[in-house]
Amino acid sequence: MSCIFCKIAAGEAPAEVVYEDDRVLAFRDLAPQAPVHVLVIPREHVDSADELEDPDVAAALLHGARKVAKLEGLDAGYRLVTNVRTHGCQSVGHLHFHVLGGAQLGGSLVG
Ligand code: AMP
Repeated sequence: MSCIFCKIAAGEAPAEVVYEDDRVLAFRDLAPQAPVHVLVIPREHVDSADELEDPDVAAALLHGARKVAKLEGLDAGYRLVTNVRTHGCQSVGHLHFHVLGGAQLGGSLVG
């Protein structure tokens, strides 16, 4: 198994887990870009959002992101981002949603 997020999902690599259920896992990003920066991943390997076929997994990811926002106290709002392949600057090839918040974020979507 070469995918780092698959290793985290399998408990074979460390992560600070914030939320988990039978379909998804949420853990803190190693290099946070906001006071709260959590990644929500499907337990099963999916390359990116563009390869996500199972609507139940899609729903579970959004549900997981909402759970993270609640647990992290992001009542004032947050950003939910997923990067896809090269032009999207995806650096880990296992689908993940970034949950970013805890402070006022910049207004630009493209950084
Ligand atoms: P992206 O560039 O959208 O693919 O996001 C990948 C994210 O994964 C980056 O924000 C990295 O900091 C983060 N990351 C990479 N490896 C790990 C890891 N082992 N544990 C936690 N976060 C990681």
